[in-house]
Amino acid sequence: MIKLKLQLEDLKPGLNEFWASYDGEELELQSKDFQLLGRLNLYIKAIKSGRNVELTLEASYKLRLTCARCLDEFDKEFNESETYYIKIGREPFSPEKSLKEKDIFTHFIETDEIDVVPFVREIVILSVPMKPLCKPDCRGLCPVCGANWNYETCEHMNQPKLDTRMAKLLELKSKLGL
Ligand SMILES: [Zn+2]
Ligand SMILES: [Zn+2]
Repeated sequence: MIKLKLQLEDLKPGLNEFWASYDGEELELQSKDFQLLGRLNLYIKAIKSGRNVELTLEASYKLRLTCARCLDEFDKEFNESETYYIKIGREPFSPEKSLKEKDIFTHFIETDEIDVVPFVREIVILSVPMKPLCKPDCRGLCPVCGANWNYETCEHMNQPKLDTRMAKLLELKSKLGL
């Protein structure tokens, strides 16, 4: 059963559980950094107490990423879990109150329904590593000729580590046939 929005009145006091699944289109997940493969499966746990909801989302999904070192695409499985504290209803704004630590982690929602999609989107986006690696010991590309050192060898492999400027110079020299 696909649940995109939780209606507050449909939640019983205490524990509520739902299972859902979404594709990239339903989540509006478009990024040049990753691609959602297949569907994202979601377990939703909502604990309701009055107009407060403690929402725990457990998402499992597979992303296609690009390795920051060798630029190859690779697939990675994720199992992420996050809890959000939600307060339904308009809160009168008061600056000193909004500085309280617990409120920083509280989401205020003015309507009587909780849209879980923005939370799921956030979980996925935050799970993408800054520098994804196809494997921890990815050997990357040769800075001179671009050979993929994971499955290719080239004449530059055994040279002492080149800095980028040196590599550019070598590349220029080889272009000029020097
Ligand atoms: Zn790699
Ligand atoms: Zn090379």
